[in-house]
Amino acid sequence: MSFQSLGLSDALLKAVSKKGYDTPSPIQEKAIPPILSGRDVLASAQTGTGKTAGFTLPLLHFLSENPKVKFRPIRALILTPTRELAAQVYESVQAYSEFLDIRSAVIFGGVNQKPQVAKLRKGVDVLVATPGRLLDLHNQKLLSIKRVEVFVLDEADRMLDMGFLRDMERIMDIMPDKRQNLMFSATFSKDIRKLANGILNNPIKVEATPENSTVEAISQKVYRVAKNKKTGLIIKLISEGNWTQVLVFTRTKHGANRLTKKMISAGISAAAIHGNKSQGARTKALSGFKNGNVRVLVATDIAARGLDIPLLPYVVNFELPNISEDYVHRIGRTGRAGANGQAISLVSADETSYLKHIENLIGERIEVDIVEGFEPDPNASTEPIKPGQNRQHRGRRHKGNSTSSSRKNSGQNRKRNRNRNRNRRNNNG
Ligand code: AMP
Repeated sequence: MSFQSLGLSDALLKAVSKKGYDTPSPIQEKAIPPILSGRDVLASAQTGTGKTAGFTLPLLHFLSENPKVKFRPIRALILTPTRELAAQVYESVQAYSEFLDIRSAVIFGGVNQKPQVAKLRKGVDVLVATPGRLLDLHNQKLLSIKRVEVFVLDEADRMLDMGFLRDMERIMDIMPDKRQNLMFSATFSKDIRKLANGILNNPIKVEATPENSTVEAISQKVYRVAKNKKTGLIIKLISEGNWTQVLVFTRTKHGANRLTKKMISAGISAAAIHGNKSQGARTKALSGFKNGNVRVLVATDIAARGLDIPLLPYVVNFELPNISEDYVHRIGRTGRAGANGQAISLVSADETSYLKHIENLIGERIEVDIVEGFEPDPNASTEPIKPGQNRQHRGRRHKGNSTSSSRKNSGQNRKRNRNRNRNRRNNNG
């Protein structure tokens, strides 16, 4: 199939060809026609599938074919969970609208609102926003979303994980009822389906990859290792394997900082990216990583979400995520666009149950290896880390087989989650 046959305007085809795309990706092929026809769409697609163009191209087509240039109210709202993703989606909107008379803007927290407000005042057709800053500016009466015709909810699963449900509901309330809704999510939990039911009107469902399955182009491997030998092992693997462009996931911000320092001491250029870093520091780390000055980017799940780094050869899980779906998100950063990628996980005894959950989710056993000198500790406990020991643990934590104890603690967990979500919103919105 070609982009021409999708029915996109010449100006959009020109922009697509300038980006160097030959053929639409599967999600683009499936999502663009129903979106062009005005239907609500529920799409299962993770980062790396080309989902951004999947919703941006038809949205721009609609706006430019039905222009309202004299007075420019916000006609399309794209909501994303993180600042990084907002910035990247905005970049795409700008690139694809290069040959159109369409104005766009991006707003997110953590930076001065003045330049954002100045841009909004001039009138924008497409707004990319994180929920916190959007509501903030709305409450200050600095923007209106009363005229939104197309609403895109990007990475809906992450929105829920980050505790943005209330904010999303509020945003839905202040938009007109009559609008087209497009919802993208990498995973489909019960909560996501519930959210979709509340937002979408008789949606067409499209899928880029089978739900919760890992991309075939990714080779996955587990190294069993003692907890205190993980740093030594990762440094050995990166240096001896001559790995470049390695994205490493840690569970905590602290862990990301610690590991980054140790890498730098070992002579490997590295930078950390997480919610406690300023927007400037995050952007600098990301651009250093993209242009090759930074060999290793150490990130927490939230910060890494939506980073647009094409053709990433290596993803390392320094610690396994305690939410199995996050494993799928993490390794989805590699093996994109048909290129082979490697996802390596360093697994200590206490992560055994996480590994089992992940293998159950992806429906396959991951190859296990042990490196001489970095053997697992035979005396280490296989019990998972307790919530109190790790500030970034989430509510939907897998607890091995102890479901009764997790139910008993659910009240405490809910309270802990509320606080955690508040922190996340403050860090990202
Ligand atoms: P996304 O999933 O939207 O984050 O896109 C992932 C990467 O794929 C981005 O670097 C896009 O520029 C790129 N991309 C999107 N559509 C295509 C396409 N049809 N052909 C080749 N690359 C694409």
